[in-house]
Amino acid sequence: MHIAVIGDIHANLEALTAVLRALGDLGIHRVFCTGDIVGYGASPRQCVEMVRDLGIPSVRGNHDDYTTHEDGREWRIRPEAREVILWNRSQLSREHVEWLRGLPYVRQVEGFSLVHAAHVYTPQWPYILNERTAIQNFLFQPGGLSFCGHSHVPVYIAHRSGRRPVLDILRNVILPRRQRVAIGVGAVGQPRDNDPRACAVLYDTVVRSIRVLRVPYAIEAAQERIRRAGLPEDLAARLALGQ
Ligand code: ZN
Repeated sequence: MHIAVIGDIHANLEALTAVLRALGDLGIHRVFCTGDIVGYGASPRQCVEMVRDLGIPSVRGNHDDYTTHEDGREWRIRPEAREVILWNRSQLSREHVEWLRGLPYVRQVEGFSLVHAAHVYTPQWPYILNERTAIQNFLFQPGGLSFCGHSHVPVYIAHRSGRRPVLDILRNVILPRRQRVAIGVGAVGQPRDNDPRACAVLYDTVVRSIRVLRVPYAIEAAQERIRRAGLPEDLAARLALGQ
Protein backbone atom coordinates (compact mmCIF):
# COMPACT_ATOMS: atom_id res chain seq x y z
CA MET A 1 0.00 0.00 0.00
CA HIS A 2 1.27 3.44 -0.94
CA ILE A 3 0.66 6.31 1.42
CA ALA A 4 1.85 9.91 1.60
CA VAL A 5 2.75 12.01 4.61
CA ILE A 6 2.58 15.78 4.36
CA GLY A 7 3.02 18.51 6.95
CA ASP A 8 3.76 22.15 7.69
CA ILE A 9 1.16 23.32 5.19
CA HIS A 10 1.13 26.72 6.88
CA ALA A 11 -1.94 28.14 5.19
CA ASN A 12 -0.33 27.88 1.76
CA LEU A 13 -3.26 26.86 -0.42
CA GLU A 14 -1.31 26.90 -3.69
CA ALA A 15 1.29 24.48 -2.32
CA LEU A 16 -1.29 22.19 -0.71
CA THR A 17 -3.38 22.01 -3.87
CA ALA A 18 -0.33 21.23 -6.01
CA VAL A 19 0.82 18.45 -3.67
CA LEU A 20 -2.62 16.84 -3.49
CA ARG A 21 -2.90 16.98 -7.27
CA ALA A 22 0.54 15.36 -7.66
CA LEU A 23 -0.44 12.61 -5.20
CA GLY A 24 -3.68 12.04 -7.08
CA ASP A 25 -1.71 11.70 -10.34
CA LEU A 26 0.45 9.06 -8.64
CA GLY A 27 -2.68 7.23 -7.53
CA ILE A 28 -1.98 7.86 -3.84
CA HIS A 29 -5.16 8.53 -1.93
CA ARG A 30 -4.17 7.71 1.63
CA VAL A 31 -2.61 10.87 3.00
CA PHE A 32 -1.57 11.72 6.58
CA CYS A 33 -0.51 15.05 8.02
CA THR A 34 2.05 15.96 10.68
CA GLY A 35 0.35 19.26 11.54
CA ASP A 36 0.87 23.01 11.26
CA ILE A 37 -2.01 23.41 8.87
CA VAL A 38 -2.23 27.14 9.70
CA GLY A 39 0.23 29.96 10.49
CA TYR A 40 2.58 32.03 8.22
CA GLY A 41 0.46 31.88 5.05
CA ALA A 42 -2.68 33.66 3.96
CA SER A 43 -5.16 30.81 3.37
CA PRO A 44 -5.80 29.25 6.78
CA ARG A 45 -9.52 28.73 6.26
CA GLN A 46 -9.15 27.00 2.90
CA CYS A 47 -6.34 24.75 4.17
CA VAL A 48 -8.26 23.71 7.31
CA GLU A 49 -11.31 22.94 5.19
CA MET A 50 -9.31 20.98 2.63
CA VAL A 51 -7.58 18.77 5.21
CA ARG A 52 -10.79 18.35 7.19
CA ASP A 53 -13.09 17.67 4.24
CA LEU A 54 -10.70 15.19 2.63
CA GLY A 55 -10.54 13.34 5.95
CA ILE A 56 -6.73 13.54 6.10
CA PRO A 57 -5.76 12.30 9.59
CA SER A 58 -3.59 14.99 11.19
CA VAL A 59 -1.88 15.78 14.45
CA ARG A 60 -1.73 19.21 16.07
CA GLY A 61 1.27 21.42 15.30
CA ASN A 62 2.50 24.30 17.44
CA HIS A 63 0.90 26.87 15.12
CA ASP A 64 -2.40 24.96 15.19
CA ASP A 65 -2.09 24.86 18.95
CA TYR A 66 -1.32 28.59 19.37
CA THR A 67 -4.24 29.43 17.08
CA THR A 68 -6.64 27.73 19.48
CA HIS A 69 -5.40 29.69 22.53
CA GLU A 70 -7.49 32.63 23.60
CA ASP A 71 -4.54 34.78 24.59
CA GLY A 72 -0.95 34.58 23.49
CA ARG A 73 0.93 35.26 26.71
CA GLU A 74 2.31 31.74 26.98
CA TRP A 75 3.30 31.46 23.30
CA ARG A 76 7.04 32.17 23.63
CA ILE A 77 7.33 33.20 19.98
CA ARG A 78 8.55 36.24 18.07
CA PRO A 79 6.15 39.26 17.81
CA GLU A 80 5.87 38.89 13.99
CA ALA A 81 4.87 35.24 14.35
CA ARG A 82 2.33 36.24 16.98
CA GLU A 83 0.84 38.84 14.64
CA VAL A 84 0.41 36.21 11.91
CA ILE A 85 -1.23 33.75 14.28
CA LEU A 86 -3.70 36.39 15.42
CA TRP A 87 -4.46 37.19 11.77
CA ASN A 88 -4.87 33.47 11.00
CA ARG A 89 -7.33 33.14 13.84
CA SER A 90 -9.30 36.14 12.62
CA GLN A 91 -9.88 34.23 9.35
CA LEU A 92 -11.25 31.14 11.09
CA SER A 93 -14.71 30.51 12.43
CA ARG A 94 -15.27 29.11 15.91
CA GLU A 95 -15.96 25.77 14.23
CA HIS A 96 -12.56 25.77 12.47
CA VAL A 97 -10.81 26.60 15.74
CA GLU A 98 -12.66 23.81 17.53
CA TRP A 99 -11.63 21.39 14.81
CA LEU A 100 -7.96 22.39 15.27
CA ARG A 101 -8.33 22.02 19.04
CA GLY A 102 -9.66 18.50 18.52
CA LEU A 103 -6.49 17.34 16.73
CA PRO A 104 -4.43 14.97 18.88
CA TYR A 105 -0.73 15.56 19.58
CA VAL A 106 0.13 12.01 18.55
CA ARG A 107 -1.59 9.56 16.26
CA GLN A 108 -0.89 5.88 16.12
CA VAL A 109 -1.58 4.44 12.68
CA GLU A 110 -1.03 0.83 11.59
CA GLY A 111 2.73 0.44 11.66
CA PHE A 112 3.76 4.03 12.42
CA SER A 113 3.07 7.09 14.50
CA LEU A 114 2.57 10.73 13.55
CA VAL A 115 3.74 13.61 15.71
CA HIS A 116 4.40 17.25 14.85
CA ALA A 117 7.84 17.90 16.38
CA ALA A 118 9.10 14.79 18.22
CA HIS A 119 8.02 12.27 20.82
CA VAL A 120 9.51 14.65 23.38
CA TYR A 121 7.33 16.95 25.46
CA THR A 122 9.79 18.98 27.54
CA PRO A 123 10.61 21.33 25.88
CA GLN A 124 7.32 21.07 24.11
CA TRP A 125 8.26 21.63 20.47
CA PRO A 126 11.86 20.49 19.92
CA TYR A 127 13.57 20.12 16.55
CA ILE A 128 15.08 16.69 15.90
CA LEU A 129 18.16 18.15 14.29
CA ASN A 130 20.82 16.91 16.70
CA GLU A 131 21.88 13.67 18.37
CA ARG A 132 20.58 14.61 21.79
CA THR A 133 17.02 15.28 20.62
CA ALA A 134 17.15 12.18 18.42
CA ILE A 135 18.02 10.05 21.46
CA GLN A 136 15.23 11.65 23.49
CA ASN A 137 12.81 11.01 20.65
CA PHE A 138 13.70 7.32 20.43
CA LEU A 139 13.27 6.93 24.19
CA PHE A 140 9.61 7.83 23.81
CA GLN A 141 8.79 6.88 20.20
CA PRO A 142 6.13 4.17 20.55
CA GLY A 143 7.12 1.97 17.58
CA GLY A 144 9.78 1.38 14.97
CA LEU A 145 8.70 4.18 12.62
CA SER A 146 7.41 7.69 13.06
CA PHE A 147 6.81 10.65 10.78
CA CYS A 148 7.28 14.20 12.03
CA GLY A 149 7.49 17.77 10.75
CA HIS A 150 8.35 21.07 12.45
CA SER A 151 11.91 21.54 11.13
CA HIS A 152 10.58 22.13 7.58
CA VAL A 153 13.54 20.05 6.33
CA PRO A 154 13.28 16.46 5.06
CA VAL A 155 15.46 14.46 7.46
CA TYR A 156 16.27 10.83 8.16
CA ILE A 157 16.93 9.84 11.76
CA ALA A 158 17.74 6.22 12.61
CA HIS A 159 18.84 4.34 15.67
CA ARG A 160 20.19 0.84 16.16
CA SER A 161 20.36 -0.21 19.78
CA GLY A 162 23.77 0.25 21.35
CA ARG A 163 24.86 2.71 18.63
CA ARG A 164 24.71 6.46 18.25
CA PRO A 165 21.75 7.78 16.24
CA VAL A 166 22.27 8.74 12.61
CA LEU A 167 20.90 12.03 11.27
CA ASP A 168 21.00 12.79 7.57
CA ILE A 169 19.21 14.62 4.78
CA LEU A 170 16.30 12.43 3.69
CA ARG A 171 16.82 10.68 0.38
CA ASN A 172 14.94 7.80 -1.22
CA VAL A 173 15.65 4.84 1.03
CA ILE A 174 14.52 1.33 1.96
CA LEU A 175 13.94 1.29 5.72
CA PRO A 176 16.53 -0.88 7.45
CA ARG A 177 15.50 -3.84 9.60
CA ARG A 178 16.17 -3.78 13.34
CA GLN A 179 16.50 -0.01 13.47
CA ARG A 180 14.07 2.57 14.73
CA VAL A 181 13.49 5.39 12.30
CA ALA A 182 11.96 8.88 12.41
CA ILE A 183 11.30 10.60 9.10
CA GLY A 184 11.08 14.40 8.95
CA VAL A 185 8.71 14.98 6.06
CA GLY A 186 9.81 18.51 5.10
CA ALA A 187 7.23 21.24 4.54
CA VAL A 188 4.44 21.62 2.03
CA GLY A 189 3.93 25.34 2.58
CA GLN A 190 7.25 26.78 3.72
CA PRO A 191 10.28 24.57 2.86
CA ARG A 192 13.55 25.61 4.55
CA ASP A 193 16.12 23.43 2.78
CA ASN A 194 16.85 25.97 0.04
CA ASP A 195 14.50 24.16 -2.34
CA PRO A 196 11.33 26.24 -2.69
CA ARG A 197 9.26 23.35 -4.11
CA ALA A 198 6.62 21.85 -1.82
CA CYS A 199 7.78 18.67 -0.11
CA ALA A 200 6.00 15.42 0.77
CA VAL A 201 7.08 11.89 1.60
CA LEU A 202 5.79 8.69 0.01
CA TYR A 203 5.86 5.42 1.92
CA ASP A 204 5.37 1.99 0.39
CA THR A 205 4.30 -0.07 3.39
CA VAL A 206 5.08 -3.41 1.69
CA VAL A 207 8.57 -2.77 0.33
CA ARG A 208 9.17 -0.32 3.21
CA SER A 209 10.57 2.28 0.86
CA ILE A 210 10.55 6.02 1.45
CA ARG A 211 10.55 8.48 -1.43
CA VAL A 212 10.87 12.24 -1.30
CA LEU A 213 8.46 14.09 -3.57
CA ARG A 214 9.10 17.71 -4.57
CA VAL A 215 6.31 19.59 -6.29
CA PRO A 216 6.63 22.97 -8.02
CA TYR A 217 3.68 25.26 -7.32
CA ALA A 218 2.46 28.81 -8.00
CA ILE A 219 4.75 30.54 -5.48
CA GLU A 220 3.93 34.03 -6.84
CA ALA A 221 0.22 33.50 -6.19
CA ALA A 222 0.88 32.43 -2.57
CA GLN A 223 3.16 35.46 -2.12
CA GLU A 224 0.52 37.75 -3.59
CA ARG A 225 -2.07 36.55 -1.07
CA ILE A 226 0.37 37.17 1.82
CA ARG A 227 1.03 40.72 0.60
CA ARG A 228 -2.65 41.43 0.02
CA ALA A 229 -3.44 40.26 3.56
CA GLY A 230 -0.89 42.78 4.87
CA LEU A 231 1.25 40.07 6.49
CA PRO A 232 5.04 40.62 6.89
CA GLU A 233 6.89 40.79 3.55
CA ASP A 234 9.51 38.38 4.86
CA LEU A 235 6.89 35.59 4.85
CA ALA A 236 6.30 36.14 1.14
CA ALA A 237 9.97 36.54 0.23
CA ARG A 238 11.17 33.37 1.94
CA LEU A 239 8.82 31.17 -0.11
CA ALA A 240 10.82 31.89 -3.26
CA LEU A 241 14.09 31.06 -1.48
CA GLY A 242 13.01 27.90 0.30
CA GLN A 243 14.15 29.34 3.63
ZN1 ZN B 1 5.85 24.60 10.98
